[in-house]
Amino acid sequence: MKILIAEDETVSRRLLQNTLVKWGYEVVVCRDGQEAWEGLQTQDAPQLAILDWMMPKMDGLLVCKEIRKQSAEPYVYILLLTSKSQKEDLITGLEAGADDYLTKPFDAPELKAKLRAGMRILDLQTELINAREALRVQATQDPLTGLWNRGAILEALRREIARAKRERNSVAVVMADLDHFKRINDSYGHLAGDAALRQVADRMRSSIRPYDAIGRYGGEEFLILLPGCNIPGAATVAERLMTSIAGQPVDLAGEKLLITCSLGVASNSEAPEADADWLIRAADAALYQAKSAGRDRVEFALKEMEGKGRE
Ligand code: GH3
Ligand code: MG
Ligand code: MG
Ligand code: MG
Repeated sequence: MKILIAEDETVSRRLLQNTLVKWGYEVVVCRDGQEAWEGLQTQDAPQLAILDWMMPKMDGLLVCKEIRKQSAEPYVYILLLTSKSQKEDLITGLEAGADDYLTKPFDAPELKAKLRAGMRILDLQTELINAREALRVQATQDPLTGLWNRGAILEALRREIARAKRERNSVAVVMADLDHFKRINDSYGHLAGDAALRQVADRMRSSIRPYDAIGRYGGEEFLILLPGCNIPGAATVAERLMTSIAGQPVDLAGEKLLITCSLGVASNSEAPEADADWLIRAADAALYQAKSAGRDRVEFALKEMEGKGRE
């Protein structure tokens, strides 16, 4: 664990440094407040800081205040070092954002206990951040395939359309639906169906560009978002997606099975005022045409499309 210490008095600084090193801490030593402030800005900066109150250039209080003005993450736990005579000013120190204080000359067991308390707070914060991250993943990711879920891909689509309008650029969507998927479940069971869905999802994810996005729109339906694409550009990607699936069989516990999909493509290059609903309905209508025309193919939404998709 790294600790930053800032203290202008040499003897006191050495004593503090040696004590902390003896306890196994990695110590970043600063001689004034300015150095401390800079040390706390670095990448991978210490999250524990012991700051002397009275220091040249920037005092400990000012460093506290500046740190607290910044983003709350990662949190820096701050112990303020004060001389006995300043004890009545402690409220000021705590209000400036210090978490705790220590009077000089410091008492080693007290310092040890206060550092332990600080580390407990930092550990708790890490746990909270991890829990929040796990919730965020849960809220946006489809658990079966690891792709964006329906809500997240629709949100991304709305963002891309807004951006495309600002930048007078186009955005295309591809709606892909696996052909006769029900038969796979019926013949091989639902678990095998799940495994097939995962393999198909992996292949599609590898067939798109890094700035494209793909989500699981429904059971065996996928929505692919192609920023900057007009219809011909999207056609190329759609063909690639189709081949990525039909090009080689999926492996269901040793059994090879060929799966195909049908795709519908729409782009706002054909309809500059199109919103997310329009694009989805247009792609869905094109997909419906692909199904009617015999499946395993790509169809395109027409300019004069009336937006009649399946519900
Ligand atoms: P079509 O070519 O017309 O699309 O035929 P289809 O059988 O794929 O279409 P339909 O919509 O009738 O059926 C989709 C099937 O996908 C029904 C459902 O059992 C299956 N399915 C949907 N979600 C899942 C899932 O998460 N796991 C598995 N194993 N199957 C799923
Ligand atoms: Mg001092
Ligand atoms: Mg289907
Ligand atoms: Mg379907």
